[in-house]
Amino acid sequence: MITVNVELGERAYPIHIGSGLIDRTDILRPHIGGSLIAIVTNTTVEPLYGDRLRHALKPLGIRIETIVLPDGEAHKHWETLNLIFDRLLEVRADRKTTLVALGGGVVGDMTGFAAATFMRGVPFVQVPTTLLAQVDSSVGGKTGINHPRGKNMIGAFYQPQAVIADTAVLQTLPPRELAAGIAEVIKTAAVADSGFFDWVEAHMAALSACDETLLGEAVRRSCEVKARVVAADEREGGLRAILNFGHTFGHAIEAGLGYGAWLHGEAVGCGMVMAADLSARLGFIDAATRERLARVVAAAHLPTLGPALGESRYIDLMKGDKKAESGEIKFVLLKRLGEAAVSSVPLADLQATLAATVAP
Ligand code: NAD
Ligand code: MG
Repeated sequence: MITVNVELGERAYPIHIGSGLIDRTDILRPHIGGSLIAIVTNTTVEPLYGDRLRHALKPLGIRIETIVLPDGEAHKHWETLNLIFDRLLEVRADRKTTLVALGGGVVGDMTGFAAATFMRGVPFVQVPTTLLAQVDSSVGGKTGINHPRGKNMIGAFYQPQAVIADTAVLQTLPPRELAAGIAEVIKTAAVADSGFFDWVEAHMAALSACDETLLGEAVRRSCEVKARVVAADEREGGLRAILNFGHTFGHAIEAGLGYGAWLHGEAVGCGMVMAADLSARLGFIDAATRERLARVVAAAHLPTLGPALGESRYIDLMKGDKKAESGEIKFVLLKRLGEAAVSSVPLADLQATLAATVAP
């Protein structure tokens, strides 16, 4: 097992990464207190891993309740969130109840937001079960739900007590979900660590084939970058925004097609190709770097051509992005592999990128 620490003073926490961790009572014990554990999961993950996690928690001698949510991004909204609150109140959860998020980013984001707001805040532990959640969403304390008008529009910054990433559970991931997680790995490397980018590029075939050792390495290196960035800028006053590379275009794709049509990671994969094109148009990177990024995205079996939503629809959706200020869209642009910056761009360049990177 490897541990990466997120250094946030009194909100600091460990990310434990290793094979078989959901069975490890000793790893779970230090992060869980109170007289009730509420596992929040979904209809897909519960039959796969619910029993094993409950078995590991049982020796703690704490009452365990399990809340099983419907599966999918389309359910990441307030009605589903309310199911968590209903159950917590029904089973008489209190301020010391620990919520344990067992699932992907959707379960993690919703459980984290429930933990941030239930009785004004209860402790929670992330047990991410998708690659995307292990490399990205479970770390850093962004929690929330979608609004029909925009992704993750309602939420809170709220850090977990610990993140427990069991790399063995990735073996049951559908290939599309694995690819979606690799998208966030590519993103992390592209904006912050060129050596890591070289490594991802060199090992893409094995990563895509779900090699557990290599995936564990990708989780560690991604978490190291994310922990460093979050420690420097917890609430996204500046630096943290680079982790949104590909996300301005990506969120427009997700909202434009309706949540769940493309996976978040697929939209981000394509969004990175679009953002690299824009970076090249503005003279930040050369055409060879843009092509290199596009090749890595394609090698991960991710889409590289945006869906035909129409130029004005793309622009309209992007104006609603959380990084937009007074209606001016901000993009994360590559300055080179391993370095990114946030900037607004001339409309003509944005239009040219949309013309070049969106399906006719
Ligand atoms: P997800 O949670 O929908 O999980 C993907 C699918 O895999 C689901 O059907 C799920 O039930 C299933 N699944 C989960 N674990 C499995 C396993 N081990 N074996 C088989 N199937 C499994 O999607 P995701 O990609 O994990 O997360 C995407 C969400 O994360 C988005 O809502 C996105 O906005 C959010 N996100 C948040 C942050 C953040 O900082 N909070 C960062 C990135 C993404
Ligand atoms: Mg993301």
